[in-house]
Amino acid sequence: MLALAEPQERVVRHGDGPLLLVGGAGTGKTEALARRLARLSASGVEPERVLVLASTPATARRLRERAEALLGDAYAELWIGTWETLGERLLREQATAAGLDPFFDVLGPAERLAMLLDRLDDLPLRHHDIRGNPAGLLASLLERIDELKAGSEPADPDLAELVAAHDKILASACSLDRGDVFLTLNRLLDDRPDIRAGIASRFAHIMVDELEELTPAQRAILAALAQENTNQLFALEATLGEPDASPAGGVGVGVPSRARRPVLRPTNSASGATSPGEEPSAREGTPTPATGPAGHRAWSLTVHPNTEVIELTSQFRDPPVRFWRCANERAQAQAVAREAEHLIAQGIDPEQICVVVDDPAAQGGTVAAAMEERGIPFHLCGPAALFQRPEVRDAIAWLRVLADPADSAAAARALTRPPIELRSADLARLATISRRRKLDMVSACEAAMESPQIPPEARERIQAFLKLYGAASAALEERRADVFVRRLIEAVGLRRQRLFAAQPEVAERLLGLARLAELAAAWARREPHGSTRDFIRHLSAVADAGVEPAGIATPPAPGAVRVLGREAVKGMEFDHVFVLGLERGAAAERIGRPARSGLVLARVERDEAGDARPSEAYAEALAAAGGEEEAHQEELFGPAEGLHATYRMLREEVLEASWKAGRELSEPRLDTAVDVNRAIARYLELLKLAALAQRPGDEATVEAIEAVNGLLRQVATPEQQAELDASSLDAYLLDSEREGEARRGLIAARREPSLEGFLPRRGDGALSLSASDLDLYLTCPLKYKFARVFGIPQQPTINQRFGILIHNVLERFHKEDASAAAEEGLQRLMDLFEAGWRRTGFGSSDDELQFRDRAREAMRLYWEREREADGEPVWLERKFDVRIGEHHVRGRVDRVDRLPGGGYELIDYKTGERKSEADLESDLQLALYRLAARQAWDLEAGTGSYYYVLDAEKVAAPVRPDDAERVERTVLGVGEGVLGQDFEPRPSPTVCGWCDYRLVCPAAEG
Ligand code: SF4
Repeated sequence: MLALAEPQERVVRHGDGPLLLVGGAGTGKTEALARRLARLSASGVEPERVLVLASTPATARRLRERAEALLGDAYAELWIGTWETLGERLLREQATAAGLDPFFDVLGPAERLAMLLDRLDDLPLRHHDIRGNPAGLLASLLERIDELKAGSEPADPDLAELVAAHDKILASACSLDRGDVFLTLNRLLDDRPDIRAGIASRFAHIMVDELEELTPAQRAILAALAQENTNQLFALEATLGEPDASPAGGVGVGVPSRARRPVLRPTNSASGATSPGEEPSAREGTPTPATGPAGHRAWSLTVHPNTEVIELTSQFRDPPVRFWRCANERAQAQAVAREAEHLIAQGIDPEQICVVVDDPAAQGGTVAAAMEERGIPFHLCGPAALFQRPEVRDAIAWLRVLADPADSAAAARALTRPPIELRSADLARLATISRRRKLDMVSACEAAMESPQIPPEARERIQAFLKLYGAASAALEERRADVFVRRLIEAVGLRRQRLFAAQPEVAERLLGLARLAELAAAWARREPHGSTRDFIRHLSAVADAGVEPAGIATPPAPGAVRVLGREAVKGMEFDHVFVLGLERGAAAERIGRPARSGLVLARVERDEAGDARPSEAYAEALAAAGGEEEAHQEELFGPAEGLHATYRMLREEVLEASWKAGRELSEPRLDTAVDVNRAIARYLELLKLAALAQRPGDEATVEAIEAVNGLLRQVATPEQQAELDASSLDAYLLDSEREGEARRGLIAARREPSLEGFLPRRGDGALSLSASDLDLYLTCPLKYKFARVFGIPQQPTINQRFGILIHNVLERFHKEDASAAAEEGLQRLMDLFEAGWRRTGFGSSDDELQFRDRAREAMRLYWEREREADGEPVWLERKFDVRIGEHHVRGRVDRVDRLPGGGYELIDYKTGERKSEADLESDLQLALYRLAARQAWDLEAGTGSYYYVLDAEKVAAPVRPDDAERVERTVLGVGEGVLGQDFEPRPSPTVCGWCDYRLVCPAAEG
């Protein structure tokens, strides 16, 4: 056993009475706690009479493992765990005294979200901004309710009504949320001195690790118990150099924001306990802690004025730190994947590599895409990680399209993923049938069976889809949700696919599917009368809101790099850690060092909002280390591949090809031999890569390829040789040394037919682009492909329908005879709006009524503004179609005003969020409109403005001398990308969060 430092020994030997242990991350606090427990046991205190609490599961696990190792079998049970598990256990023992049903459930956010979605009409949401996304709104409101109940957020009168409705719904199901557990326990300790004394005497000692993580409600519990028993030891992490920190050394681990915003007020109540929904408050005499370590320290010293303080200063973990300045998020993720690949190649266990992101649900996708590009097995942990797994998304796609055949994104995924694997061009054909005949995608599949445009091979795949679909939809109404999900997983063959792939991936896949089935079973237990359709609705809402159901977190499979959120990494240790996103405004206020051998701190130079500055913590760490930043640029066409990475990528392809060929061998068709030869050719290519990767000396790649090809020619049949000749692998390997070659495009070109026939063109064959096409492509080329090339039909969202309505109303209003409009004025505008509202089929949900209220007010303001406006509308919805380079650029300007001085102003109505002039600095749309007005109408418009209708504000976009040149450059660049079929995804948290194609997008999965 390792010898302890002298301060740690003092902790272990400490007798009775309070003790505060302060030290930075990695100074051995947790070890000291475990050793103290062993020492207490050796001195005659039964281990079960020591309550040991931690905030994070990782620390609780470490404490338990160390205690079990040190104690041997000298205990009946251990009270070591997280606040959540032990708090619930204590409350359950006192359920009757607390006035609770003894079988109460403690529900996590996902269960509560589902419950609330079912009872939307009972919730006072009218004053909250729903914006067409009740699940998203509720998820964020639940977070606020949790913070409120934890006492980490001040009481909010706006939320009081909602909290009451939320609690009433939970109570009707005999359920509590986590916050209620501590609030109720708190109240019990105050109201029942006998129970308080009973708990305080039951535990001879209480030890609390991670004091800095405690919520005010949890601290209030400790303060209550301290009245009866002062044998409390608190371990507090504090950072050296923080102005309010203890003088203890070390560098702190990133601390979650909830621990940073305690607002603990003195109260008149002797207990400080509150009712659910009220702000938890301090016990009498307990201080109002400031935020940060000093606040926790001060609080602890007030609860125990005579406490002994021991500070740990020696850092046993001090890894070398590197600093990365990355061009953007993708560059950052690519740099991590590149570095992880090198580490793994050097023999580092992937499990010992950890990537820390702010929010795995939001930023995990970018890291996941970069890891996938290099074929590195990884495990994305954190809320909703389950829903980012490909196999789980496949199952959700099947469930969604079964519940709603008009769900085109779900249909597209089910059709293009195994086992159907419809090719892109055939999906585009289906989407065309669906659009032209106004059919949902499933009906379009049926229609396609008769269409001569669908090739026989695609028809077979569509037939297979329809067969599975038909069988599953018949069972949908009959089976319970959990039974249905299990059968569907088997019937579609989701478990069987890629069974031979790299081991960690297979294990992760099976775990993910098992979790989904468990989720369905848990839901069916809770909702015994619910239908499978109800479950699918619940699942979709929970997955979309990014909330992971309680107890469903997927454990990582062995052999995978961990991608964790900042909160989750606390209490863990790895050899190599990459902490990403350390720009100003990032949630982490301190930087962690959960690394033994190497730590990389990374920040981006440009985020979605523009230039990003490093966080203070990053800047301080950089200054303290006196280090240099390493710059990382984005690899536009994916990783500049090494042979090893290409080998790994091709290995997956070989396994896929062999699986597919195997399936066809079991049901031979005319072209089975083609697929078998193709599978063998892929295998020979794999051999080629293995040979090249292991070739000795520094023979030039071109010569080495030629030599290996010569040997392969001796074993390949003529058909296989033809496949090898048609492959672009050699070209790729050679071109990878040359800039600008698209690896993925070339490799994909071997197996995917061109989408040439589906690119949006005008009658003369030229590419057709609009301002929104340009924006779409620049935002994410893959999203452009889904929307404009495949043309996957989408149901318009409430926001889109509302936008169309407002455009139509304003057009009609201005088109009417000017004198009539002036006479009737506001009333006429309102009438047009009301008529349009009814015709558009809006209902009376809170969301819709909110839009209506805002729109009515907006119409009134619009009319008032119009009466005073200088400009006179001369054209409405005026179209243009101009040539830029060889492309058509078309569009429609909502309104052109003639200004009093004789000039013109182009106006575009917007019903979304208002932007400032600064936000519009590099705006493209109005610059394009001005250029088009000049070319198409010979009209020089000095100004272009956005009219934000809901805010009744007009914002002019800045005009720059190089606008025309900028527009031309952009149009030509996008045109080149589209014609070159460069549809690489550009995942980013904000864009993907609202993307209609998330389910079908491979880059949005982890
Ligand atoms: S989910 Fe993200 S990466 Fe995928 S298509 Fe949509 S925007 Fe692009």
